[in-house]
Amino acid sequence: MKRFLAMMLVVLMVFSLAGCTGASTATEEPTTEPVVEAAGVSGTFEGTGEGKDGAIRVNLTLENNVITGVEILESHETEGLSEAPMQEVIDQVLAKNSLSIDEVSGASYSTNGLLEAIESALGAAGVAVTDLVAVASAEGDQTPLEYRVDVIVVGAGGAGMTAAITAKEAGADVAVLEKMSFVGGNTLVSGGELNVPGSWVQENKGVEDSIEQYTADTLKGGDNQANPELVAVLAENALAGAEWLRDEIKVNYQPDYLMQFGGHSVPRAIFPEGGSGYEMISKLKAKADGMEIPFHMNTRATTLLTDENGRVIGVEATKGDQTLTFFAENGVVLATGGFGSNAEMRVKYNSEYDERYNTTDQEGTTGDGIVMAEAVGADLVDMEFIQTYPACSPTTGILSYVADTRFDGALLFNKEGERFVGELDRRDVISKGILAQTDSIGYLVWDNQVTEASHMENFQKEYDELVKNGELFKADSVKELAAHFGLNFAVMQTVLDQYNEDMKTTGEDSVWNRRGLKFAIEEAPFYIQKVAPSVHHTMGGIVINTQAQVLTAEGQAIEGLYAAGEVTGGIHGKNRLGGNAITDLTVFGRIAGEEVAK
Ligand code: ADP
Repeated sequence: MKRFLAMMLVVLMVFSLAGCTGASTATEEPTTEPVVEAAGVSGTFEGTGEGKDGAIRVNLTLENNVITGVEILESHETEGLSEAPMQEVIDQVLAKNSLSIDEVSGASYSTNGLLEAIESALGAAGVAVTDLVAVASAEGDQTPLEYRVDVIVVGAGGAGMTAAITAKEAGADVAVLEKMSFVGGNTLVSGGELNVPGSWVQENKGVEDSIEQYTADTLKGGDNQANPELVAVLAENALAGAEWLRDEIKVNYQPDYLMQFGGHSVPRAIFPEGGSGYEMISKLKAKADGMEIPFHMNTRATTLLTDENGRVIGVEATKGDQTLTFFAENGVVLATGGFGSNAEMRVKYNSEYDERYNTTDQEGTTGDGIVMAEAVGADLVDMEFIQTYPACSPTTGILSYVADTRFDGALLFNKEGERFVGELDRRDVISKGILAQTDSIGYLVWDNQVTEASHMENFQKEYDELVKNGELFKADSVKELAAHFGLNFAVMQTVLDQYNEDMKTTGEDSVWNRRGLKFAIEEAPFYIQKVAPSVHHTMGGIVINTQAQVLTAEGQAIEGLYAAGEVTGGIHGKNRLGGNAITDLTVFGRIAGEEVAK
């Protein structure tokens, strides 16, 4: 039953997140003996490959050396990121009856593991890859090369899907272009939390907050470099945006849990079910599918098309080796995210952020929208302000949600056993602090009470991976933790004694003045995790006005061009506060969708 449910889940996720998918799974039990006839082998065969997170097992159905079904029996690949690329591999294998398929963008470990599993099933059938019967390529050549709609949205992350749904709700005929084979962008790999002053959760918990306080925190958090008009729009519309996500999109939020990211004066980030952007992205995609908004996947917008007056009238895009043209009667919304994954572009605007830095971003985050907008005269702002996230895997660069123990009381040490920065300080301050330490690594230390407070159950998979990769260690004493990674225990003990004394007496951290702490670090088991900063968010981008219209350097709106989300600049100033990216993309995604549909 469990296996059945797991399989159903895989199938459901494929259908909820993939762009264009067709039924392509089979349900037969594997046969043990291949049925060999003159025309080839028939039967169902099992095979296994190695994905990113473990074994991928498939059932392959053959009819006379033609693959007629591939069913995934077991997969542990990343939820949201892997299903659509894997489905695309299956679609292509079925369409071509070959393992030589066109490149599928994203999730390469998962797609290679799947191909390996298919090849191993062929092996079980005694069929060589070269024995597969060639079938005529059916689809490729029939893709139309020209489309005409009211609105084109470029990018299927949080901002793009929000804009597309809003424009469609307003009556526009909308199409979405996404260069990857999966939707979600960085929103998918984010924690999905958003700041909302005056939310129903704050009400449940009796937290006093106001639009003014949120505005002030956001402006201050960005060193007062943000555009106050845009921040006012952000703050005033945050609650309506969150209610839209909850009521229209059906995103589930924990009714009684709020996060307080650094720089916020009260806890105000509402927390989605599962603690990840998957909840929001899967619901946005389901809504968009229900509204029959077409998603052109693996379709990379390259150039904005303009008429003789400079009005944006469409987009040119590439899909494989084809060039597609999308004409948009009303206009184009750029929602292509930031440029964190483009080291060359980072260095162009700020030489500090070269390839020494990993990134938390997915690989599609290469700044394409910024380049396209600039080419039609858009102004850019704050391009040099690049944010690093302090608590990421030193090996992969991936943002660590396990390390969110920082918000519930974990302390950050260096190799010398000292605390060196306030753990709830701003991201840039902590990041620079860590980089200045021995080996450019920080060691996060916490105890059982902090684990229990931090919703660790949501992040079990990441926890197991960190242990497996040797980045996280659990022990019965702090001394063992220190010995494991070679920290100076004598110093560490003195620092911890002082801290624990503070917690038990005044409840105030007398050394680093950290707020909101509850626990002395004293209850076994204890944990230590290695963390390092990665490039996480690019604050700069396209200049927009309060209607999400793209502006020139002279402050003129470029007709037919709108932008929302991380591709824009001016909302976060020098530094984006935690939880503000999702508020931003929700508020401005909705505005862009409403405005472009007018
Ligand atoms: P935001 O948070 O602003 O919504 P995301 O990073 O979540 O940004 O999403 C941006 C999306 O845009 C990603 O899915 C990314 O793959 C997609 N994208 C980026 N460049 C292009 C492009 N040139 N054409 C189509 N899609 C793009």
